[in-house]
Amino acid sequence: MAIYSDLGVPRIINAKGPSTRVSGGFLDPEVLAAMAEAATQCVDMAELQAAASRVIARVTGAEAGIVTSGAAAGLLLGTAACVAGLNPALMGQLPNAAGPRPEVIVVRSQRNAYDHAVRAAGVYLVEVGLPDRYAGAGVRDAEPWEIAAAITPATVAILYVASSHALPSLAEVVAVAHERGVPVIVDAAAQLPPVSNLQAFLAAGADLVAFSGGKAISGPQGSGILCGRRDLIMSAILQNLDLDLDWEQWNPPVELIDKHRLPGLPTHGIGRTCKVGKETIVGLLVALERFAAESDVSRTGRWQAILDELVARLGPAELTVRPGLTPRLVLAVPHARQACFTLQNGSPAVHVDPCELHLGNILINPTCLQHADLPALARALRAIMIDSAA
Ligand SMILES: *Cc1c(COP(=O)(O)O)cnc(C)c1O
Repeated sequence: MAIYSDLGVPRIINAKGPSTRVSGGFLDPEVLAAMAEAATQCVDMAELQAAASRVIARVTGAEAGIVTSGAAAGLLLGTAACVAGLNPALMGQLPNAAGPRPEVIVVRSQRNAYDHAVRAAGVYLVEVGLPDRYAGAGVRDAEPWEIAAAITPATVAILYVASSHALPSLAEVVAVAHERGVPVIVDAAAQLPPVSNLQAFLAAGADLVAFSGGKAISGPQGSGILCGRRDLIMSAILQNLDLDLDWEQWNPPVELIDKHRLPGLPTHGIGRTCKVGKETIVGLLVALERFAAESDVSRTGRWQAILDELVARLGPAELTVRPGLTPRLVLAVPHARQACFTLQNGSPAVHVDPCELHLGNILINPTCLQHADLPALARALRAIMIDSAA
């Protein structure tokens, strides 16, 4: 393959997983073929997103859904939907909605760098709770009553960042939010697998859920899903599409955009900046169907097979594979941080998962590795294992 060498861009071995900076993973030939075909013809983008909505609704159980240019784009569009609803004047004002600044409540321990996408809609993030358990100084995190107490007339949504250790539970957050008519937006970008999570957050009452398309779903790197309540999805897509036409000329599919619920046609919205192309929409949909059709056992088995082959190539060393839906190879080396840099500066460059360097562990994530990567990866890893044993 010459495209990257023609551009003078060295290829890397991605043992980190589907992170943006290491270009996500790779596409299955079936996804690629669908994208290539989609790129050869033109369609109406609202019709294409309406078709996407049908697929996403069937797979997730949502009322409606759209393909976005990533989970972060989904968070921006979802927040904009909660601020503006179906009011085209408000859509036009974002990120500076007239009146008191809209507020989104978030549990303090769930704050993270990706919530910039929520703030980009022009809202103020109101943090609640004291995450004592992280400091080791106590046992508590935010409690449902603290979220309830923070709700004011300016509150437009609650942001919930899903993870196995998130507290309070989503069901408890939904209960206090819905009692006061406030929608809950779930950042579930990296919560797949298990495949059941495609439905779990909506089943727990979430109003909007954002997933990454470029992580485990294995769709195009710049893709994602926003799904949930029909009225909020309608608002989100209105703030994303090119709407440069006349009211009479505008004939969107009513299942996605019921134009008669609007007093007029919005101008380009805040989400026009995160447009998504037809090839990306089609690629995501094919990848989503494939992801939903594969069992967790089968997917984990494929990843385990990559690690098994790598372990065999690494020879008799003491190696631990940490089991899980996404198994990982754990390499305990004396100078893990230095070894990580050495791997990254090698040829080919090897990017590993650095999240346990402080514990002396280099983690190998199999999800963006192909069997063809393994001889070179094993060689690079053997070199640092010998190095650090010396
Ligand atoms: C990866 C991630 C995102 C961003 O997803 P993109 O699809 O890259 O936009 C947002 N939130 C969390 C928690 C993530 O892990």
